[in-house]
Amino acid sequence: MSPYKELNLNLTPKQQALKEGVHRLAKEVLRPTAVTLDRMSSPQEVIAAGSPLWSALKAAYAQGFHTALIPTECGGLGLQGLSLHIALEELGWASAEFAASIAVSGFPFAAVATTGNTDLIQELVTPFVADKEARFVGCWAITEPHHGSDQFMAGTPQFYDAKISGQVSARPDGNHYVINGEKSAWVSNGTIATHAVTYLTLDPSKGLAGGGVAFIPLDLPGVSKGKPLDKMGQRALNQGSIMFKDVRIPKRYLLVDASVYEPVLYRTLTLTNGAMGAIFTGVARAAYEEALIYSKTRIQGGKPISEHQLVQKHLFDMFTKVETCRALSRAAMVYNAAADPPAIEYAIAAKTYCTQACLEVTDTALQLFGGKGLTRDCLMEKLYRDARASLIEDGVNDVLALVGARRLLA
Ligand SMILES: Cc1cc2nc3c(=O)[nH]c(=O)nc-3n(C[C@H](O)[C@H](O)[C@H](O)COP(=O)(O)OP(=O)(O)OC[C@H]3O[C@@H](n4cnc5c(N)ncnc54)[C@H](O)[C@@H]3O)c2cc1C
Repeated sequence: MSPYKELNLNLTPKQQALKEGVHRLAKEVLRPTAVTLDRMSSPQEVIAAGSPLWSALKAAYAQGFHTALIPTECGGLGLQGLSLHIALEELGWASAEFAASIAVSGFPFAAVATTGNTDLIQELVTPFVADKEARFVGCWAITEPHHGSDQFMAGTPQFYDAKISGQVSARPDGNHYVINGEKSAWVSNGTIATHAVTYLTLDPSKGLAGGGVAFIPLDLPGVSKGKPLDKMGQRALNQGSIMFKDVRIPKRYLLVDASVYEPVLYRTLTLTNGAMGAIFTGVARAAYEEALIYSKTRIQGGKPISEHQLVQKHLFDMFTKVETCRALSRAAMVYNAAADPPAIEYAIAAKTYCTQACLEVTDTALQLFGGKGLTRDCLMEKLYRDARASLIEDGVNDVLALVGARRLLA
């Protein structure tokens, strides 16, 4: 049974089963756990041993969802295009935090898989794919204390400005690279991660375009972590900084060098923007569904508020926004899974549109709950805070729009 009216009449039985499977985990485990974690007073409590965070992650790993981005040849689920969108929307419906955490956990290992290096895949990806206990947790370390938006400005003049280069560098030394510097407090899974796919500076003379991508096990000597971040939204998502002091990685862990950094960054941003579109379609849908149910039970003026015409108009506007989010973000993700090169402007349109629409839907939904919507025991209050964070998450919407606009004008 589909959790919403499926307008795509050509879903395969496998895609239908995927939707139902992720929805079950989302409803039974991830959403209730995220609500519990959100109410904890400190981010340390969220990640403490015995926290329900770990049992929820284990439940997701047990079903293999941490391998969503790992190709089937490497033992992963190999989700892409429509299938990936279906899974991410359901995860977002449960919790923006778990959606981000589970997806990003696979990033370092998916990056290794794309090299096609069978020895490296055997060494690094195979143990992750076999993990059913959430012993391996990945993160995507790209932003830095002094370079947040800067890291996303691919294609703009500032990206090639030699005066602007990153804070984390890799220096060759024999058969190793030596890593130094700091990644920002915003790295998702940052303080619980065991491995990071790290976007760093190899050739500062090229500015931020002189980057590279390295796989870094975070138990190496010289790695340290900051405190978990305390924030207003997506409180169940662990975030924190990672510091590198003379950390030595074998040369084979450098996955991408400066000569191909820019196209690789474009591909990564196409994936992350598309994923954000799918996840926040799910968050918007969650808010709309809650408001629809509540409007049929709350009596004012002697009848359910759903019988007041103005409320009906708000409900229909929310419904339209959710459907528009799904249509745009699905189309972008399906196209970009097949196209070479992908069209990043469509992925950015999906991210910026869906997150903004999601904020509007959660805002209207909260309004329909009246005073109850402001209380901590109402899901709407959490969804509203989570949606607000999405306008900054994985690139500020204004900045991403500048990157997208350059593609239109090219
Ligand atoms: C929930 C969440 C999850 C995240 N997950 C990760 C993660 O997994 N890994 C990771 O590395 N980072 C992550 N981030 C960090 C995120 O990518 C950055 O916060 C974001 O890119 C903005 O950077 P900043 O916070 O430093 O803001 P700044 O870059 O300082 O921006 C501040 C303001 O200046 C504006 N601005 C900046 N530059 C320009 C420009 N050139 N032109 C016009 N306006 C500009 C911006 O629009 C913004 O309004 C996450 C953030 C959030 C909120």
